[in-house]
Amino acid sequence: MKYKKILVTGGSGMVGRSLKDINPNAYYLSSSDCDLTNQLEVEKLFEEYNPDCVIHLAAKVGGLISNIKFPADYFTENILMNTLVMDAAKRHGVKRFISILSSCIYPDVAPNYPMNESVLHDGPPPDGNFSYGYAKRCLAVQTEAYNKQFGLNYQFLNPSNLYGEYDKYDENGHFIADLIKKIIVAKKEKSDKITLFGTGAPLRQFIHSSDLANVIWECVENDIYTNMNVASNEVLSIHQMAEIGLKSCDATHLKIEYDATKPDGQYRKDISITKLLEEIPTFNPIPLSDGIKRVYLKLNR
Ligand code: NAP
Repeated sequence: MKYKKILVTGGSGMVGRSLKDINPNAYYLSSSDCDLTNQLEVEKLFEEYNPDCVIHLAAKVGGLISNIKFPADYFTENILMNTLVMDAAKRHGVKRFISILSSCIYPDVAPNYPMNESVLHDGPPPDGNFSYGYAKRCLAVQTEAYNKQFGLNYQFLNPSNLYGEYDKYDENGHFIADLIKKIIVAKKEKSDKITLFGTGAPLRQFIHSSDLANVIWECVENDIYTNMNVASNEVLSIHQMAEIGLKSCDATHLKIEYDATKPDGQYRKDISITKLLEEIPTFNPIPLSDGIKRVYLKLNR
């Protein structure tokens, strides 16, 4: 392995657990091991573990409703975690540092889609997650500032929405997790429909968390330092994804109903993966239909 001591913050989350499946030889940290919003705990962590590589995944992550209700928490916790972790990494001589942004921090509306990396700061993020969006944009600014001032090669990757078997399957899950859960419940309860929030019209781009995990390891192992988007080329409406979900879960008998009193969120936010394909030409993410089937079979075992 290139690095002797790899620290993965957010190691108990969806992406962290996918990383661990590929490479268990790292320290996978959860919030009960160290509260990354607490400077003393972060300092102690770096003194005791002394990593030479940090993969910083930890974040306060949540759905639209939670972001709207608790914008101050999303801002402060993310700013604190990112600031403290990167600063400690730099002071403790960490050579390799990769952190994760999100496609939902891009401008709410862009002149062209899919959005490439250069438009990140060209307009405010969506109202619904403006504080999470700005906190994550600050992580991009912090990375570039540290690289310039201290001659570092720290990096960030910017993924689209994610799904996977380690997603949250409670009220905090993302769309695909929620869809699979609704299909499983409808089948169990012998219902004839599932009900989805909004109109079904918005366009989304999802990748399996193991695809992001593979890109992270490729960057570490092959010395790829480019700040870049990570996504699949499948840009689909919520309705198309729901139809794929029903097929993948053997549930085409279920009708799809929409509750248009609930918000749709942003209409589109698809990101370009031209840069990613230049850096990793073999990148070949799991098609959504196969990924949903894989999650469904694991959850239904
Ligand atoms: P997740 O499943 O919600 O996991 C969050 C992780 O952060 C957990 O390990 C959690 O620890 C840790 N954490 C939260 N607050 C902490 C604190 N104060 N101190 C220490 N650890 C703390 O997140 P994920 O979906 O794996 O996301 C990983 C990264 O990808 C995040 O940076 C996220 O912003 C980004 N991202 C996610 C998505 C998505 O669709 N999920 C899309 C784009 C980008 P506990 O388990 O102990 O709470």
